[in-house]
Amino acid sequence: MSAKLIDRTPSAYGYPLLIKHLLGNPVRHFPQQEIVYGDFKRQSYRDLGERVGRLASGLAGLGVKPGDTVAVMDWDSHRYLECFFAVPMMGAVLHTVNIRLSPEQILYTINHAEDGILLVNTEFLPILEAIRDRIEPVKHIVLLDDTGQRPTTALDIATDYESLLAAGDPAYPFPDFSEDTRATTFYTTGTTGLPKGVYFSHRQLVLHTFGVLSALARPGQGSFHRDDVYLPITPMFHVHAWGVPYVATTLGVKQVYPGRYVPEKLLELIAREGATFSHCVPTILQMLLASPYVDQVDLSRWKVIIGGAALPQALANQARTRGIDIFAAYGMSETCPILTLAQLKPHMMAWSEERQLEIRCKTGLAIPLVELRVVDQDLNDLPHDGKSPGEVVVRAPWLTQGYLKDPSTSEQLWRGGYLHTGDIGAIDQEGYLKITDRLKDVIKTGGEWLSSLELEDLILKHPGVAETAVIGVPDAKWGERPVALVVLKPDRASQTDEAALRDWLKAFVDKGLLSKWGIPDRVLLVDTIPKTSVGKLDKKLMRDQYQKMIQQG
Ligand code: AMP
Repeated sequence: MSAKLIDRTPSAYGYPLLIKHLLGNPVRHFPQQEIVYGDFKRQSYRDLGERVGRLASGLAGLGVKPGDTVAVMDWDSHRYLECFFAVPMMGAVLHTVNIRLSPEQILYTINHAEDGILLVNTEFLPILEAIRDRIEPVKHIVLLDDTGQRPTTALDIATDYESLLAAGDPAYPFPDFSEDTRATTFYTTGTTGLPKGVYFSHRQLVLHTFGVLSALARPGQGSFHRDDVYLPITPMFHVHAWGVPYVATTLGVKQVYPGRYVPEKLLELIAREGATFSHCVPTILQMLLASPYVDQVDLSRWKVIIGGAALPQALANQARTRGIDIFAAYGMSETCPILTLAQLKPHMMAWSEERQLEIRCKTGLAIPLVELRVVDQDLNDLPHDGKSPGEVVVRAPWLTQGYLKDPSTSEQLWRGGYLHTGDIGAIDQEGYLKITDRLKDVIKTGGEWLSSLELEDLILKHPGVAETAVIGVPDAKWGERPVALVVLKPDRASQTDEAALRDWLKAFVDKGLLSKWGIPDRVLLVDTIPKTSVGKLDKKLMRDQYQKMIQQG
């Protein structure tokens, strides 16, 4: 018997899953709700609805048609939120440009995505000026400005954002189209090769919004609900700020966009606006907690999701002592991004704080609709015993279906019908994933896998250590050996040296928490640790630098 498709009477509305459907109700139901942009602007959801119409109408006036790509270079702002809606809602594609890439890489992404219109913050004009002769497709530049002054620039500026909106129609009629229409695109910032473009459809973004919403809509620990105040601290150019602005808007909560990230400013915004829900990478939280102003702010109502890199237990502990509800999440550019959240299950609420901390620092449970597996090379499932590592592969309705104009890498990403994350992890009996390494960063010493993340966690527990990264370096006898780079806390630098750190790790070997092969051959004390454009440890660069150092003796 073959499956039967549903019948649809000619007048029935099929309801494509379009981003415009996320916006209607919150604007209607919470018109007075606030959206704040740092010290620059306060507006309401009613304003958001009208300005989204005005923006689309203005862009249409500049010639933007369905299928065209509109690029944005801005700090996190109310404008960026408007672009998140207006551009896809008119059937165009939003390219969120990573402003931390090098000018050459930015040039590559603008040309590769075929951006027709560029909305650019005054602060980033120098980047564009440096590459302007080689930008191919851009027809118009629209200025995003917080200074109130017209800049002197050699670039041909078509108009500024506020003038464009002032002349636009707040009731712009947004059409229906296929839910599989491309809505957004942006580029992954791998440490090798050219940036790779990923892309997401309306359907994918709507389903991601509801997948994340359903996981967060719960009482108590790890929740996000109507009474929260949302402050993103993950750039909007990076995987749509993890897609949470769409979630926040759907909920109709107050939203606070912080502009450029300055730790003192962020703390001030948390206090002044009453922010209760944020997400960021570990480095940013580290900076906030190290700020001299942190003691002036009550963080006990703050919930923070940490992702982009593993959440170190030392950092989680520090956050917990301030009453922060901290927990990890996991995903990647290719996955829209959220795949897992490290929320506590109800029965874990009775556990000791120490056991709970361990769960909060895991990589998390797959959220609804995500099928997440840990597999061997032949795609066979590995046991869920918390200690059988393999590659994490996934299926979900919101994964990029390929890389932009790159068929062979796309097939490689999706080999066997699962998206290959390139991450190594293990699933425990409760179903929680713990990522232990990147496939390309994994250290194999004497035939054994050594987790650089676990080693980093142990080193970070030393009271004198501010930052660390562990890399694998070639070794004639063992294949590879670990080397640790360590930045010391300035006030502890005189009391901590390489021998002290190695002794620190030996204590974990004695307790059976680290194999004796896990003690790095060298612990290098350094001033800084190289990071990628989104603040992650750049292990490729570290390995290259270490190799050069060895060659130079
Ligand atoms: P990106 O595409 O730049 O967002 O980077 C995604 C990568 O960051 C993942 O493939 C992981 O290697 C890493 N990552 C993200 N979240 C976590 C996490 N909670 N724990 C460990 N690694 C993570």
